[in-house]
Amino acid sequence: MDTQHQAFNQAPEPLWRETVQLPTFPKLSENIKPDVTVVGGGIAGITTAHLLSTGGKKVALIDAGRLLNGTTGHTTAKITAQHGLIYDELINHFGEEFTKSYFEGNSKALSFMEGTIESGQIDCDYQVQDAYLYSTTDMYKKKIEKEFEAYQKLGIDSELVEALPIDLPVKNAVVMKKQAQFHPLKYFKVLIDGIINNGGQIFEGTLATTINENDRTQVVTEDGYHLDSEYVVIATHFPFYDGMGVYFARMKADRSYTIAAKTRKTFPGGMYLSAEDPTRSLRSTFGADGEELVLIGGDNHKTGQGTDTMNHYRALEDFGNDVFGIDEIKHHWSAQDLITIDKIPYIGPLTEKHPSILVATGFRKWGMTLGTLAGQILSDHILGNHNLYRDLFKPSRFKADPGIKHLAKENANVAAQLIKGKLDMPTKRAEDLKKGEGAVILVNGKRCGGYRDENGKLSIVDTTCTHLGCECAWNHGDRTWDCPCHGSRFATDGSVIEGPAKKPLSTVDAKE
Ligand SMILES: Cc1cc2nc3c(=O)[nH]c(=O)nc-3n(C[C@H](O)[C@H](O)[C@H](O)COP(=O)(O)OP(=O)(O)OC[C@H]3O[C@@H](n4cnc5c(N)ncnc54)[C@H](O)[C@@H]3O)c2cc1C
Repeated sequence: MDTQHQAFNQAPEPLWRETVQLPTFPKLSENIKPDVTVVGGGIAGITTAHLLSTGGKKVALIDAGRLLNGTTGHTTAKITAQHGLIYDELINHFGEEFTKSYFEGNSKALSFMEGTIESGQIDCDYQVQDAYLYSTTDMYKKKIEKEFEAYQKLGIDSELVEALPIDLPVKNAVVMKKQAQFHPLKYFKVLIDGIINNGGQIFEGTLATTINENDRTQVVTEDGYHLDSEYVVIATHFPFYDGMGVYFARMKADRSYTIAAKTRKTFPGGMYLSAEDPTRSLRSTFGADGEELVLIGGDNHKTGQGTDTMNHYRALEDFGNDVFGIDEIKHHWSAQDLITIDKIPYIGPLTEKHPSILVATGFRKWGMTLGTLAGQILSDHILGNHNLYRDLFKPSRFKADPGIKHLAKENANVAAQLIKGKLDMPTKRAEDLKKGEGAVILVNGKRCGGYRDENGKLSIVDTTCTHLGCECAWNHGDRTWDCPCHGSRFATDGSVIEGPAKKPLSTVDAKE
């Protein structure tokens, strides 16, 4: 057990980047005029840019950091339309026709990816797999039965089973047949090459700060350069520009954890997800030297509102030990995704007043098919092609049920976190922090965040989130400051890792 825990002393790092060499790109250092500016180099941005460049548009893709180092670089990469317990719920809320379209859109995205991989002969460990959603309690056994009924209404190729191919006792499981898994970065590397070959431009280390709306839409970067284009696609995970769309109040950020382990038992194939909390997600993949690894994921919680984040990794390790026996944990990482109030992503014009600013966000941890579908919908919008799924995901939709109920609940949670943060007074001081420890501390009577690195260097920040003023919490597993209200995350020096915050946390004099 202790040997495995040693893996957790290393900084979290997904295995995907270690097993592929991605190209690098310069910072933008002049004003340019592409047809379309795509901001954000994850699945949504890269797929959109790739399809647009194939369709003859001059595209510029910019990313604040490195391409594919956001959530897409930290995914589990199951390509499936089995999105947890969702189809029975969607039928109840939106009806059968809507739900059928949702399923079809995601299935077509899967087929599109498969077709792209086949026609481009992309070597990305693509494997067709059945997807299992299982229950371990009587209450969820009934929910799985309902979900299977929904699958049947929708004509989904599926089966209800009472046991899994893996050694895990379950009550039942619904199987969606012929789904898939892959190595996401090997796939996107080829799409990136395609963008360049089609005459597109890519810039890394280029943070977009705002959009000016004139004749052409103008993205402004942190260094003051402009990209003037007919269309802007915001694919920054959390939209970096809100345009009065009030996205921060319509989405919440949810974190999950993953470990990649060498196991004693051989993995029999299949992709698995528990219906109950704490979530457990399983699939296999290959490590750097070709050995089989099992990805064990889950233990999700709202960003900034978990317990000691190391406990989540340990919970996954315990689960993996029970089911497979773990020899070694090779990698561990965590990431977050955004969930909209009605669980359907926002894909399309930012608001009705912004026909040339398009957005794709809120994939609810199912961004492999939904991010691909977003790329198809947004590129069709710009290229003037008809897309069957365009209205389904329109961000300006307003459906009272269930959205309004969740909106009220989410915003009550935000208000509670805001007040809780202000009232929680720290009990520690800077001198109490050991090497590698971070905590909320008291500095001159004020609540601050302190972190002492492995060399003993102390960094202190003001923990008040620069987005809307909630108090950030220490994330021990990732060594970051996470906002419990809208999911912004900051490094120990205060710099922004993920928005909606755009400004860093201010630093506090760290003299001891
Ligand atoms: C732990 C975990 C496991 C998951 N597993 C699965 C799975 O098995 N199957 C599945 O379908 N989905 C899964 N998902 C969901 C999926 O990974 C995400 O939905 C998807 O990767 C999101 O992609 P994106 O393009 O929206 O965002 P990202 O990949 O985060 O890309 C956004 C990019 O925008 C850049 N950016 C941000 N702000 C700016 C700015 N102002 N200027 C310039 N650039 C900026 C960032 O640097 C980043 O590179 C999982 C999610 C998590 C958290």
